Amino acid sequence: MASAETNGGKSQESSLLSDDVRRSLGSWLESSESQMRSAGSVASWESELASIQHSLKFVMKLKEEFICPICKGVVLNPQQNSCGHIYCFHCLQGLLESSSLSSPVCPVEKAAITPSEVFQDNCCKREISSLEVYCTNSPLCTSVLTLNQLQEHLKSCQYEQLRCSNPGCSELLQRRFLQEHLSSTCPHRRESCPHCQQPFQLSVIQDHVQSSCPEVKVICPDGCSSLVPRNKLTEHGESCPEVHTDCSFKMFGCSVKGKRRKVKMHEEAAVCHHVLLVLKSNAHLEQQVVFVQKEALLRQQRFRRTRCSWVTCRSSWGLCCSRTEVTNWSYPLLRGL
Ligand SMILES: [Zn+2]
Ligand SMILES: [Zn+2]
Ligand SMILES: [Zn+2]
Ligand SMILES: [Zn+2]
Ligand SMILES: [Zn+2]
Ligand SMILES: [Zn+2]
Ligand SMILES: [Zn+2]
Repeated sequence: MASAETNGGKSQESSLLSDDVRRSLGSWLESSESQMRSAGSVASWESELASIQHSLKFVMKLKEEFICPICKGVVLNPQQNSCGHIYCFHCLQGLLESSSLSSPVCPVEKAAITPSEVFQDNCCKREISSLEVYCTNSPLCTSVLTLNQLQEHLKSCQYEQLRCSNPGCSELLQRRFLQEHLSSTCPHRRESCPHCQQPFQLSVIQDHVQSSCPEVKVICPDGCSSLVPRNKLTEHGESCPEVHTDCSFKMFGCSVKGKRRKVKMHEEAAVCHHVLLVLKSNAHLEQQVVFVQKEALLRQQRFRRTRCSWVTCRSSWGLCCSRTEVTNWSYPLLRGL
């Protein structure tokens, strides 16, 4: 592509191609592209072959007229110039766009290329599409196909080299070996954890089993030597005989604590001690209840006997007039009664 540097409002690019050539190039591109679109899949097999255009091996020697004078490969999407030479569509497009002359010329005999006179050569296109070619994986693959079938064949050719699709694996294998590689030999394949059945990449599965799989049984970390699934450790801790705990009678005043196994033995052995603690606590509660009852009764009686100390109020305390708070000077009077 010529430089797009501007030159007095007119780009340098436009000065390289005359306006006529530029206009006809635009219309040639437009008409060729619409022809290719209407040809549908025919255009697509040709564009897919562009990357292997120069490694194609034809059964019969390729006729000179089918060799593109620009790229020297078999002509793909043939476009014929008025001089009779045929070029690939993408080669001609490249030549026209990069031409530094005011008028692009055929590389064979320097005849002028006038884009408006260039046309898609469908007769040549048909002949080229039915040329016989060896599979690009020959001699391993012995298939012989017409050029327009090659791309389709390569999508299922057992000798086609493919890259392993597992993330992290860059191995290239023939299609016939890929399935086995993916399912059983690729070091980056995914497999189910034998314990929790979750899929993991092979390289991390051992780590997962050793340090985080919830279903793997591990030895109790408190030392009771039970094997407990990792996700049941908290539950196990609530009954593990080696976990430290308090005596169940702690709330009644028993201060014994230690490993659950020992505390259990203590609870079985200290029945009398615990009964006494419960009785003592019970007696203390009863005393408190009696005290609270007495206190409540006393208050009730005081309230009945007490008159409101507010001078003009004659009602009993609790049924008072407008003064509802106990003021500083009236409170001692109430206490004294
Ligand atoms: Zn070409
Ligand atoms: Zn020519
Ligand atoms: Zn093949
Ligand atoms: Zn692999
Ligand atoms: Zn697991
Ligand atoms: Zn345990
Ligand atoms: Zn106890």
